[in-house]
Amino acid sequence: MNLDSSWAIYGAVLALIWAIYVIVVRKGERYNQAIKTAAVEAGLTEPASIHPQIDPAVCLGCGACERACPEGDVLGLLGGKAELLAPTHCIGHGECARACPTGAITLVFGTAKRGVDLPQVNANFETNVPGIFVAGELGGMGLIRNAVEQGRQAVEAIRKRRASDQSQVRAGGYDLIIAGAGPAGIAAALTAKSHNLNYLVIEQDDLGGAVFKYPRGKVVMTAPVVLPLAGSIKFRETTKESLLAFWHGIVDKHKLAIRYRERIDDIVEDGGEFAVRTSKAIERASAVLLAIGRRGTPRTLNVPGEDLPKVVYQMIDPEQYRGQHVLVVGGGDSALEAAVQLAAVPDTVVTMSYRAGHFARARLSNREKLDQLVRQGRIRLLMPSELRRIDSNSVDILRDDKISTLPNDAVIICAGGILPTEFLRRAGIAMETKYGTP
Ligand SMILES: Cc1cc2nc3c(=O)[nH]c(=O)nc-3n(C[C@H](O)[C@H](O)[C@H](O)COP(=O)(O)OP(=O)(O)OC[C@H]3O[C@@H](n4cnc5c(N)ncnc54)[C@H](O)[C@@H]3O)c2cc1C
Repeated sequence: MNLDSSWAIYGAVLALIWAIYVIVVRKGERYNQAIKTAAVEAGLTEPASIHPQIDPAVCLGCGACERACPEGDVLGLLGGKAELLAPTHCIGHGECARACPTGAITLVFGTAKRGVDLPQVNANFETNVPGIFVAGELGGMGLIRNAVEQGRQAVEAIRKRRASDQSQVRAGGYDLIIAGAGPAGIAAALTAKSHNLNYLVIEQDDLGGAVFKYPRGKVVMTAPVVLPLAGSIKFRETTKESLLAFWHGIVDKHKLAIRYRERIDDIVEDGGEFAVRTSKAIERASAVLLAIGRRGTPRTLNVPGEDLPKVVYQMIDPEQYRGQHVLVVGGGDSALEAAVQLAAVPDTVVTMSYRAGHFARARLSNREKLDQLVRQGRIRLLMPSELRRIDSNSVDILRDDKISTLPNDAVIICAGGILPTEFLRRAGIAMETKYGTP
C-alpha cells in the first residue's frame, strides 16, 4: 500500500466518523426541538422557581448539562448551545450547573417575564411577622433534602426563641402549628416531638406533599439527610412508593400528630399568639411554621358532598379506579388527561362534566385523544353541565335545565389551583418578587 492510498483510507475513516457524529447530533437536536415545541404549544415555558440560566456566549455545547439533569428533559442542545427545553420540569437539582465545565450555567429564581414571589425570611426562617416561619419549597429552594433540612432548622430556631423569651410560653393552645405534611412538615414535626413541643401538623391532603402527587413509580433522587428521632434517610435513588412507605412508617412509629384533609385558610395574630382558621376549626398557637410548598391549594366547587373521601383533586394512579364509575370534572389539560388515562383502564366507566360549551384551555393533542374516546363510547361527555351534588354512590349533574343522577364511585375535580401568595399576604407576610435573581 503506497502513502497516497493510506491517506485515502484514513481520510475515509475520519469522514465516516464525522458523518456518524453529525447524524447523532442532528437526531439529538431533532428530539430536543420536539420537546421544546411541545412545551411552547402547551404554554409551559416558564419554570416554577429555581432553574438554570444559560449564557450562550460561554456555553461550549458539550452537552454535560443535558447528561447530568436527573429529570432528563429540562435542558438540551439546540443549534450547538444548551437551552431550556421543558422548563416546568425543573425542580432545582442544580446538577447541570455543577457539570458545566465553563461555568455557563447560573441557578436563578424567576425569569424576566415571570417573576417568582418569595416570602422574605431571616436566617432563622422567620418572616417579618414575628412567630410565623417558613420552611421548604415555599421559601424558593426545591428538593427533598433542602425541605427536610429547613424544616428541622426552623423548628430548632422556634425552640430557641421560646427558651429565650418566656412570653412565648403560654397555657392552652399549641406551642407550634405546622402547615403541610410534605418533607419539610414531617421533618419539622419530628424535631418538635424530639423537643417535647406541643405541636400539631395540619395537611390539606395526604402525607408526603409533592411526593404523594408524583406519577406512579417515579424515580426519586435525593441525598442522605438526618431526621430527628428517625435517624438518617440513607437512599440516594428510590421510588415514590418506597419513599411514601418510609414516611408512613416514621409517622406511625413516632405517632406524629397530623390532621389530614384539613386546609389552613387564615392566620391572624391575636393577643400575642395566632388564631389559625382551618376548613374545620380554629386553633391557637404561639408559633406557626408554613411548610406548604409552592403548588397551592386546589380550587373547590363548594357542592354538597365534596368533603366525602371519594373526592380528589388530582388523579394519581388510574389503576386504582379499575371497575369503578368515575366522574372527572373540569376542562383543562389535567381533566382531559385524567379522563383519557382512566378510559384505558378496563371496566372503568368514565364520565366527564365541564360547565363550558367547548374546551378553550386544553391542548389540541389532548382534545383529539378525548374526541376519539368519546366517539368510541369509552368516555361519556356532558357539556355544558354542572356537578350539583355528590353522594356516596351517586352524583347529581345539571344539564339542559334537568338534573340527572348517575351511579358513581369516585370524583376527580380538576378545577385549577390557588397559589399560596394571596394567603401569605393576608397573614401580613412581606413578599419579594425575583426576576431571574441568582
Ligand atoms: C414531579 C416532581 C418530581 C420531583 N422529583 C424530585 C426528586 O427526584 N428529588 C427531589 O429531591 N425533589 C424532587 N421534587 C421536588 C420535591 O418534591 C419538593 O421540593 C419537596 O416535596 C418540597 O417539600 P415541601 O415540604 O417544602 O413542600 P411540599 O412537598 O409541596 O408539601 C407541602 C404540603 O403542604 C400542603 N398544603 C399546602 N397548602 C396548605 C394549606 N393551606 N393548609 C394545609 N396544608 C397545605 C400540601 O398539600 C402539601 O402536602 C420533585 C417535584 C415534582 C413536582
